[in-house]
Amino acid sequence: MAENSRPDLRIVEGVDPTRLHGEVCFVCGSAEPPLHPAGTVETRVGEGVVRRWDIVACTEHVELER
Ligand SMILES: [Zn+2]
Repeated sequence: MAENSRPDLRIVEGVDPTRLHGEVCFVCGSAEPPLHPAGTVETRVGEGVVRRWDIVACTEHVELER
């Protein structure tokens, strides 16, 4: 079975918590408004346990994600 079988969700590791919290652009870390909803990522918090985060991206990077 694929590690990440749901295409709308991404498992990420080692990401700055402010990016996970949706405070800054997930890609570049910019806090410059406007910031746009950029989907959801998950981090592994334990064996078989993931935590889901709603992330944001700056205008430049939200367009790259599409
Ligand atoms: Zn950005």
